[in-house]
Amino acid sequence: MKTVEEYLDSLRAINYQVYLFGEKIDNVIDHPLIRPSINSVAKSYELAADPDCAELMTVRSSLDGKIINRFTHLHQGVDDLINKVKMQRLLGQKTAACFQRCVGMDAFNAVDSVTFEMERDLGVDYHRRFRRFLRYVQENDLMVEGAMTDPKGDRSQRPSKQKDPDLYLRVVEKRPDGIVVRGAKAHQTGALAAHEILVMPTLAMSEEDADYAVSFAVPSGSSGITYIYGRQSCDTRRMEGGTIDVGNCHYGGHECLVIFEDVFVPWERVFMCGEYQYSGALVERFAGYHRQSYGGCKVGVGDVLIGAAALAAEYNGAAGASHVKDKLIEMIQLNETLYACGIACSSQGYATASGTYLIDLLLANVCKQNVTRFPYEIARLAEDIAGGLMVTLPSEKDLKHPEIGRYIEKYYRASAAVSTEQRIRVMRLIENLTLGTAAVSYRTESMHGAGSPQAQRIMIGRQADIAAKKRMAAVIAGLEKE
Ligand code: SF4
Ligand code: FE
Repeated sequence: MKTVEEYLDSLRAINYQVYLFGEKIDNVIDHPLIRPSINSVAKSYELAADPDCAELMTVRSSLDGKIINRFTHLHQGVDDLINKVKMQRLLGQKTAACFQRCVGMDAFNAVDSVTFEMERDLGVDYHRRFRRFLRYVQENDLMVEGAMTDPKGDRSQRPSKQKDPDLYLRVVEKRPDGIVVRGAKAHQTGALAAHEILVMPTLAMSEEDADYAVSFAVPSGSSGITYIYGRQSCDTRRMEGGTIDVGNCHYGGHECLVIFEDVFVPWERVFMCGEYQYSGALVERFAGYHRQSYGGCKVGVGDVLIGAAALAAEYNGAAGASHVKDKLIEMIQLNETLYACGIACSSQGYATASGTYLIDLLLANVCKQNVTRFPYEIARLAEDIAGGLMVTLPSEKDLKHPEIGRYIEKYYRASAAVSTEQRIRVMRLIENLTLGTAAVSYRTESMHGAGSPQAQRIMIGRQADIAAKKRMAAVIAGLEKE
């Protein structure tokens, strides 16, 4: 496994073509806006080397028996699925941000079982190719960005019926040595912290959309790939040089628009090319795994937000108020309900034909559906407890100003037991999680990440077997015999 230093050095060797604020960025990993998200991914390397975290962070590879980082593992049983969720909660607690490495892990597991079924049914060696790629990932402890979401253009039109055919990523040329692809993937989590990109189709495809049913892996710095960095609320505070106003001193997450301008992919790295009948299963399984993931990562970040709200109450001198205690309990109950959903869909997991374990899809979709709501309520309660100061505070520079700093010290002091700066730091953390850079991963991503709410509702409707429930009712009501 890689050390943190080796991970950072390996990123330095990648020639990403990146644009941020209208400029091309040469040094990605030391850029103050980008670095916090790389620190979050680096935490997955750091904790893997910590003996106290070994059980969650590392596992024996099913491919070669070596100890690997769990983020590169194929789940071999229910215990693996549960440990995955626990690992994500731990990393959420340690970073209070999106640590980005889960998308690749979820993609590995989905691509593994679907390519097995494709190879079994069609005889093309997609699964053997994928396993060779995954061995390379495991041996080099790589961070892989899973790429699913296409820009999608006009939502009323299929991929092949779009006015601009590039609005879904597609194969534009098949050659003896490989394929050429064109298009883009939007909202790409952790794009600039990754060594490789594993691309999957974004929808169940039909025959006319066969060119869009494509899955492959390419190195992140491949020729023809351009990254345009997505900005976040309050992101430029990271360029001010302080540690207070950013709220979260070290960690963050990021997304990019990733453009593929005629990128060549050798056949050895192509895992689907035109087999549209399998794209639906790949989307469904990947989405299911990532909906399970949210029962871990969002819960870990929720733990930090609950802790911050409890500290704010203490620093404000309000910790003894019964309504504050009650609100904290409400936050815990909501947060643990999400965890219960993550554990439940894992505990009901089962083996696919490849031997790789899949979660219970109905419960994973219920998990994510709850995630579209509960973090909003937890954030609302945190803002309630914190008070309006979290959005009206003067800046760190004013706090440290030789003349006026004393006014902030004096008038924003609350409990005698804590300094004004301590109180401000906690307010800024709550601001960061609810309205700042981390609001991307804790709030809006809770809504739209791993699929928007309606996508889960469609899956819940499909998985729930309403006809069986109607029969149960008919028997009980004496309409039918058992
Ligand atoms: Fe992992 Fe959560 Fe970020 Fe997805 S949103 S990559 S599950 S931390
Ligand atoms: Fe996500």
